[in-house]
Amino acid sequence: MPETPERNAIEVKGVSKVFGFGPDKVVALKNVDVSIRENEFFTLLGPSGCGKTTLLRLIAGFDFPTDGEILLHGQDIAPLPPHKRPVNTVFQSYALFPHLTVAKNISFGLEMLGRPKSEVDARVDEMLKLVRMEELRNRSTAAISGGQQQRVALARALAPQPKVLLLDEPLSALDYKLRKEMQIELKRLQHETGITFIFVTHDQEEALTMSDRIAVMSAGNILQIGSPEDIYDRPAVRFVADFIGETNFLEGTIEERAGDTARVKLSSGAVIDASVAEGVDPSGSVTVVVRPEHAALASEGGQLSGRLSNIVYFGTDTHLHVDLDGGGGEFIVRRQNTRTDRGAAAIGDPVSIVIGAGAAQVLKD
Ligand code: ATP
Repeated sequence: MPETPERNAIEVKGVSKVFGFGPDKVVALKNVDVSIRENEFFTLLGPSGCGKTTLLRLIAGFDFPTDGEILLHGQDIAPLPPHKRPVNTVFQSYALFPHLTVAKNISFGLEMLGRPKSEVDARVDEMLKLVRMEELRNRSTAAISGGQQQRVALARALAPQPKVLLLDEPLSALDYKLRKEMQIELKRLQHETGITFIFVTHDQEEALTMSDRIAVMSAGNILQIGSPEDIYDRPAVRFVADFIGETNFLEGTIEERAGDTARVKLSSGAVIDASVAEGVDPSGSVTVVVRPEHAALASEGGQLSGRLSNIVYFGTDTHLHVDLDGGGGEFIVRRQNTRTDRGAAAIGDPVSIVIGAGAAQVLKD
């Protein structure tokens, strides 16, 4: 069966944003290109100040790009003020009306748009059901929990049936357990409504759990766009490997290269095989990354050797810190804990590290 072509909901083309002038000038976005597909849960992930909120605000129309254009379903949206864009935003602060009931908070926007009462009532019922808040419809929003306020804010933003919903760190005010629950809930809402979600977070675990695709940002640039698996298993650059999950970095030089694999001589003298990320310059020094869960300790026969320097227990797994021989630095191996296997090595023991097939990767710096 032929696949249905994926359509883009939003296309950001060569967008830059500069705030201020002269010495106060801040370049918040640098020539950013990204296409977000219809019906996609898309996440902008990066550290504080990298430009995530700025990009969201440009899509919402709260601010204008210094350069470049933003298309919605192929149309340039620059002339449209925020309330004319089929885009809605959920803010971190929720911004609910505390003196109004749950139902009134949801109906308010629809009434402002002049929708007929019968349509508004039907839509409020539908939204209350969607966010599972039917029982609390007449409760004041000042008298409901943080998680419930979050649901009302979502229902209110979804009520006018936007084509795109922008979510700016909407879960960051919730405690850990509730945040985990709401992550699943948000994913369900996106799936059930089919609305494109653009979600902003600095929490890599949240991004990996929820997203169809992630754009990793740093200092106004998008460094990599891909599925959670792409980003985690095949980071394109050092920043992405470092920001997402935990990683061991080994420095070395390429001795021999055949297609997308290479034999790398590490600074400790050890030689390992590694796959080469696209666009890597094989001359000079390179960085090799290995995830801690893709390596295991053995008494001998591994590619690296060293001495066990620390054992850190995390419940589901244990981190084994190894001081590599030849001044190669520290390497962490993550061992999954089972009832029977807790490992026999003790601090100070000489150990060998076995790196799983395909686990070592040469990166662009
Ligand atoms: P956070 O996670 O902390 O919200 P962010 O990734 O969303 O960070 P932005 O809020 O987009 O980052 O900010 C990007 C850069 O632009 C920062 O250096 C910020 O200080 C600057 N900036 C944002 N808005 C303005 C403004 N109105 N005037 C001047 N500088 C601004």
